[in-house]
Amino acid sequence: MATGSNEPILSVSDLTVSYGKVTALNDVNLEVQRGETIGVIGPNGAGKSTLVDTIGGFLEYEGSVTYRGLEVAENDTPTLIENGLFYCTERRNLFGQMSVEQNLRLGSFLNDDGEEDRLAEVFELFPRLEERRTQEAESLSGGEQQMLSLGRGLMSDPEFLILDEPSIGLAPVVLQDISEALTSIRELDVTILLCEQNLTFALEHADRLALLENGRVQRSGTTAELQSDDLVESYIGG
Ligand code: ATP
Repeated sequence: MATGSNEPILSVSDLTVSYGKVTALNDVNLEVQRGETIGVIGPNGAGKSTLVDTIGGFLEYEGSVTYRGLEVAENDTPTLIENGLFYCTERRNLFGQMSVEQNLRLGSFLNDDGEEDRLAEVFELFPRLEERRTQEAESLSGGEQQMLSLGRGLMSDPEFLILDEPSIGLAPVVLQDISEALTSIRELDVTILLCEQNLTFALEHADRLALLENGRVQRSGTTAELQSDDLVESYIGG
């Protein structure tokens, strides 16, 4: 029934994902509109990584996950990337023995129009990466690897960025760098799905939040609405 530009860029309907007998996601529904940042929050084991791994095309599922009308399970990763989806996670996409610059350029292998301009933008956003452009990725600190992962996502000129816990394990000063970069990325009109256990970080950056617990969406709404929600508050308190 939705038409044209009002259609969500991502629709998750009745999504169930299991690992053998463990049901990690149970009947999850979620819509993401173009240009917004949605934060998926929840405690350990809630199903956040399972959700982003599914949207990124790495897991089998029941139900439906469509990105720009494409069913994720029926499309391969290059097709999804060509359509602007980029799953950005340190776990998945760095090549340790390649240099910082080589890793960044791999981000644009399916779309190298404007590659040099994008590289310059990434270096402007993360001067540390420019200083270390010839260094092997595996020799970077955790925070620098997180910057490289984000920078590599930007090299694909994404329309939709999936970020898997970009704040995890970062010292406060590096977290500040990542936070400022994310603010700049949001100004580029990129749609972002931000999976986060760090609620302060999610509250700072997300327009809307979905709270996952035991594989179910327990709450969803605008960040302002959910900030004073009892369940979210109890989670923040815990
Ligand atoms: P965390 O914040 O601790 O990473 P999460 O919210 O990302 O947690 P998931 O990693 O998605 O949660 O895990 C959801 C549930 O699925 C958990 O109960 C977990 O033990 C289970 N699970 C995840 N991966 C597997 C796997 N490969 N095999 C079996 N069970 C798994």
